[in-house]
Amino acid sequence: MFLNHVFNCNFCNSENKVKIDFDDRGTLQMKKGDELSYTCFSCHKKDKIHINKITAKSNKIILLISVFISILSLILTFKSGFIAYASLIFPILVYTYLKSLEDNFNSYRIKTK
Ligand SMILES: [Zn+2]
Repeated sequence: MFLNHVFNCNFCNSENKVKIDFDDRGTLQMKKGDELSYTCFSCHKKDKIHINKITAKSNKIILLISVFISILSLILTFKSGFIAYASLIFPILVYTYLKSLEDNFNSYRIKTK
């Protein structure tokens, strides 16, 4: 939900999304192996992609929602001072959290044989 996982097709280089429920490549490798089979959504060819080529990208919709909540909360708590400031920090916290999830996945690469 917080992260999208993407890779580029070996044939046409189109960006494909893949659903991955693991936090890092190490866990992914243990559960699924070094490569994942895919069918490209663009050229419809079947191939395997090495999991080091899969990149995590944070879900920008989550960030947009948090900004929206922040603005809404700012309007509602405008006269309450402190809480209004707290609502400004909220999207920053969300961004930091998403970034850490992203880095956690992307920084760890499995060893290639
Ligand atoms: Zn393709």
